[in-house]
Amino acid sequence: MTSRSTEDETLYTSLTNGLPSFLGNALLRSASLPSLPAIAMQVLEIARSPRAPLSDYARVIERDPGLTARLIAAANSVHYLRSAHPAQTSLEATQRLGLDATLATVLSFTLFPWPPTENAALQTWRRAIVAAVVASKLAHQLCPEQVGSAFTLALLQDIGILAILTTYPDEAEALYAESKVSHAQLVNAERRHFGSDHTLIGAWLAAKWGLPSSIVHAIDQSHDGFLTDDMATLCLRLSGSIADAWLSPEPSTTLAMLLRQLAVTETLPTNVIEALFHHLSEQIDLLTDILDLTVPAPVNSQTLLADAQQLLYQHSLTLTARLDAQQQQLDTLQLHNSALEERSRIDPLTQLANRAWLEQQLQERFALCNEQGRTMSVVFIDLDHFKVLNDQYGHQTGDLILERFGKILASLTRSGDLAGRYGGEEFLIILPDETAQTARQLAERIALYLNEQPMLKIDQEALYVTASMGIACLSNGNFSNERELIDAADQSMYFIKRSGRRGISVHGQD
Ligand code: GH3
Ligand code: MG
Ligand code: MG
Repeated sequence: MTSRSTEDETLYTSLTNGLPSFLGNALLRSASLPSLPAIAMQVLEIARSPRAPLSDYARVIERDPGLTARLIAAANSVHYLRSAHPAQTSLEATQRLGLDATLATVLSFTLFPWPPTENAALQTWRRAIVAAVVASKLAHQLCPEQVGSAFTLALLQDIGILAILTTYPDEAEALYAESKVSHAQLVNAERRHFGSDHTLIGAWLAAKWGLPSSIVHAIDQSHDGFLTDDMATLCLRLSGSIADAWLSPEPSTTLAMLLRQLAVTETLPTNVIEALFHHLSEQIDLLTDILDLTVPAPVNSQTLLADAQQLLYQHSLTLTARLDAQQQQLDTLQLHNSALEERSRIDPLTQLANRAWLEQQLQERFALCNEQGRTMSVVFIDLDHFKVLNDQYGHQTGDLILERFGKILASLTRSGDLAGRYGGEEFLIILPDETAQTARQLAERIALYLNEQPMLKIDQEALYVTASMGIACLSNGNFSNERELIDAADQSMYFIKRSGRRGISVHGQD
């Protein structure tokens, strides 16, 4: 076992505590969970001495021909240039990869059985390798000085999956078998089954081996969002998703989803993605050849991007259509609401304002008049002998008369006035800014109309209705509230009732 510094020990302990205890124990007990192979241990030891020359690494690695081949493949894929001659020796490979990536490559290729035999392990490796190529290419454009570590981190980010596969071969194989499952869904499945996901398990494993804490943290946070200022971190976090898109059975759909998630082009200009895919299509073949891995049928990088953008565009169209539909629904709802509100103010039989609305308006008007020194009048109308009318012609005829009377009031009042049904056969008209004089004129017009126009004709017989009306004007009394104003008009109306009905009386004048 590698010796860890106190700081690394603390990190390892905290990661161990983060794992569900059954899982931590199982991982620790797992006989097949790799410990550092001798060759990786030696590379790690060399890495710990700050001044070790690259040739020291190369010499160690050369002892394993298989490993050397894979290292050269990795090196050529990271710094691939058409014109440059590819690395051919482990020293050249190490020089090209840099120390970080050499270490990662050695670790990855020696820790788990190679070539992978199980389907899930194979998929994990494919993803890791594609992600590593993606990360280094992105880093090349976004943070050139960190190409090596980007490659390393991307390659190691999923070692947790390999640890799970090793510790729980049967369950994990079933869990990872569904190749159409997205990486995010896979993470959820891991959490359900193991109470933890492969980022934490991978970070824990890396800490257990004594890898640098920067690597441990990066693995732990490899699934965090794309919102980061650190370009190397962004390269890592993007690498897995781009690899998923590349390896997905429906690359353009997966890529479109990723682009949408990135709010596209602001984070990653299209030409960067284009260059990346071009690079990928060249590199993956080369790499997988040497690594004995098969990859899905090659993807045409240009078509892929075009398809993804088309999908994205279609999606935004659907989204716009959906927004339009929602806006329409909202409009209908508002219309419906105002209809409801209207209904709550209207008396259904006469289509005039109902009592509640009358009272509210009167109260508001009263306050306004007080505030601004303005005046108003109200006309209280009670139809005469309505009970008799009902008894004689039936309730339905009574209703018809009320309905007609509503229309008459509506036609005789002006737009600023408010006519309403105050009770059964009682009506109230609010006349803002009008004196008792104008109110009386309106009342006279109503009386004249009732005099001249029959309400109904029943069996050729014209049926006339009369009304008793009382008027009160704010200027003609000392009213402390709107209630007193109505009462005054009501009293004047009753004065008419007592005097034999059909007539008009003004409060304070008669
Ligand atoms: P007065 O001249 O003293 O006002 O006599 P009136 O019969 O009109 O007054 P009263 O207050 O005694 O009776 C009111 C009548 O109006 C009794 C009631 O059945 C009738 N009424 C109230 N609301 C309605 C209604 O919605 N439809 C019908 N058809 N009749 C109504
Ligand atoms: Mg009455
Ligand atoms: Mg009446």
